[in-house]
Amino acid sequence: MFDLKDLYQEVIVDHNRSPRNFGELGPPGRKLEGFNPLCGDRLTLYLDQDGDRIADIKFNGSGCAISIASASLMTEGVKGKSVREAETVFAGFHELLTCADLDIDMTRMGKLAVLAGVRDYPSRVKCATLCWHTLHALLAGDEAPVSTE
Ligand code: ZN
Repeated sequence: MFDLKDLYQEVIVDHNRSPRNFGELGPPGRKLEGFNPLCGDRLTLYLDQDGDRIADIKFNGSGCAISIASASLMTEGVKGKSVREAETVFAGFHELLTCADLDIDMTRMGKLAVLAGVRDYPSRVKCATLCWHTLHALLAGDEAPVSTE
């Protein structure tokens, strides 16, 4: 039998080992820090916005494998998208991790679906959503660091 769970784990391990879009963006790009005190995850998100479009996005920081892999997958997933599209992806991702309804259409989540297993570990959900909350605040123009607590 094809073990989907193992495949998902492989993707997470790969994105943790070699995170995509890892680094910094200088001005005029904006940046925002995000913390997850519960686990010790610390990320800084860098954003180059071209009108309504996410022209470029990078992150750096340190944290557990889930927080790094999630940030890596997120930057891949939202780069080039409009702000509204990115918020829609976030809403779907959040639902995927927190909603008890297992009927969610996983295919529309693309690669982000690999993090669905996190839903079985409620304390790790914040690791996976930290980068998204930080992006949400950054897009909203917030300047205060984001904390999941
Ligand atoms: Zn974590």
